[in-house]
Amino acid sequence: MTTLDSKQDRKRSNGSERDVVALGIATAAILLFVGTGGTVMPLVVRSLLGEGNGPDQALANALLLNVALIIFGWRRHRQLTEEIAERRQAEELARQLAETDPLTGCLNRRSLTRATDELRGKAHASGKAVACVLVDIDNFKQINDLNGHTTGDAVLCEITMRLRSLLPPDALLARIGGDEFALMVPFPRNQSERIDDLAIRLIEGNFTPLAVGDISVETTMSIGISSDLEDDPYSGGKVDAQALMHRADIAMYHAKKQGKSRHFWFEPTMENELRFRNDLEKGIRRGIEEGEFVPYYEQQIDLETGELIGFEMLARWNSPNMGVVCPEIFIPIAEEIGVITQLSEQLMVQAFADARHWDPALTLAVNISPLQLRDPWFAQKLLRLMVAHSFPPSRLEIEITESCLRENVSLVSSMISSLRNQGVKVSLDDFGTGYSSLEQLRTLPFDRIKIDRSFIAELNTGNPDSRIVKAIVSLGRGLELPITAEGIENKDILGALKHMGKLMGQGYIYGKPETADQVHERLRNAKRLAANQSVEDSETTAIPESSPEASQTPFRAAKG
Ligand code: C2E
Ligand code: CA
Ligand code: CA
Repeated sequence: MTTLDSKQDRKRSNGSERDVVALGIATAAILLFVGTGGTVMPLVVRSLLGEGNGPDQALANALLLNVALIIFGWRRHRQLTEEIAERRQAEELARQLAETDPLTGCLNRRSLTRATDELRGKAHASGKAVACVLVDIDNFKQINDLNGHTTGDAVLCEITMRLRSLLPPDALLARIGGDEFALMVPFPRNQSERIDDLAIRLIEGNFTPLAVGDISVETTMSIGISSDLEDDPYSGGKVDAQALMHRADIAMYHAKKQGKSRHFWFEPTMENELRFRNDLEKGIRRGIEEGEFVPYYEQQIDLETGELIGFEMLARWNSPNMGVVCPEIFIPIAEEIGVITQLSEQLMVQAFADARHWDPALTLAVNISPLQLRDPWFAQKLLRLMVAHSFPPSRLEIEITESCLRENVSLVSSMISSLRNQGVKVSLDDFGTGYSSLEQLRTLPFDRIKIDRSFIAELNTGNPDSRIVKAIVSLGRGLELPITAEGIENKDILGALKHMGKLMGQGYIYGKPETADQVHERLRNAKRLAANQSVEDSETTAIPESSPEASQTPFRAAKG
């Protein structure tokens, strides 16, 4: 407790002691007045009428003193009543402030629990259940970042108004986080579809852009729902307000993962998913610290000559619990939890070290996440990393996907230019699956496009001349961009591609992605290790028979 508080408390208790004394004195005065008044007053009246002597001087004084004391007591009583009324008002105001969110006037997280208990009590008494509808604004951080906090605040107030206008009058509305709202809605026990309707209206209502000042802001929301309809069929107990919110939160998280702008009811399996996901997150963070992420390499081949041109680095996680984990599992999570840059740099450093042992003519391609490109210093950081690990920029190729172009084309464009000025090449990965327009392809200075393997798969036996692949190839030719075909799995596909002219390619036909050691072995057999490296190797180890994978590979004998 602060000294200020304790001083105020002391003052308050002194005040109330004085009040008790004043009350005691006034009561005694009244008793005395009644006692003495009975004797003195008739004497006074009689003396006034001239019928006798006045009362004794001392008694008259006592009576007057009594009257004064009663007046004093009454005034104190009035003061006290006023003070109490003021104090009640102040307490009410403080309570309101403590229970509501100052920005939107909704309830806050603290008050929601008690209000929910009351609401559920009433709803259950009238045979209704209560649903917890948790609403999260999908892109709120971006709105804040792009337009500033004042606009962000205005957007929240506008959203509050929209939510309120769609809620039934007996529902509760609370803001429980920056961009998170909880709605507690009573509904007839056999009509849970009413809650679905509400969720759909909330989501659809938000599609109309919000007008805030002179800008218009588009928002979408993800919604998770839980209810106390069956109380707790899983544990047999009763759900409380906290459990309702926790479950709605899990369902909301599920909605986000399913692509946002949706609503889901809580299901117990979601809880397991979430637990698994939390374990993954922890595992990834720990894995980065422990160096469990390693680069694998996939060969990139000139289809016309069969020559090995370089490798694409593909991340793998050697997880102590799960074994070798594919990037499709951990990259999206690493992006979400904000460790993708750290992870990517760690992998690149390993790849730079590995590639220094290879023939310097071999290139290294690395995949870069769209999130990494949001950093305006990305190009500088990459360059610094290459300098620190003596890796020549001319050997590096970065692969970025079309989704990068959706975010900030001008930033990406200047980044590509500055990387190219330093000698790094930039390819457009997974081409055809995303959003790039012909205009972007023409204006952005890419060095290469990579046709996604989903298109290449069309070239399988049944369809050796996929029009899409042909169209993409001729598009690349038109733009004078070299092309790489991904996912070449068999001879049919390879044959079909070879007919389409000069292309580069990669895929399982050349073997699956390999570890650094396997690549080293492969290159030694093909006499394509760096000059000093081949000498070192031949001094330390006898050259083994060529490995089965190496003999399968169609690339030609060593260069030079
Ligand atoms: P991607 O860049 O399209 O990489 C090609 C993926 O196709 C790789 O999967 C590769 O193993 C697989 N693949 C190659 N040849 C064939 C084939 O003939 N048939 C089939 N069915 N698949 C083939 P992987 O290694 O699981 O990587 C998946 C995706 O993860 C990559 O797709 C890339 O987008 C991403 N990724 C991998 N490493 C990194 C990384 O270090 N950073 C970032 N940001 N993303 C990465
Ligand atoms: Ca790639
Ligand atoms: Ca791909």
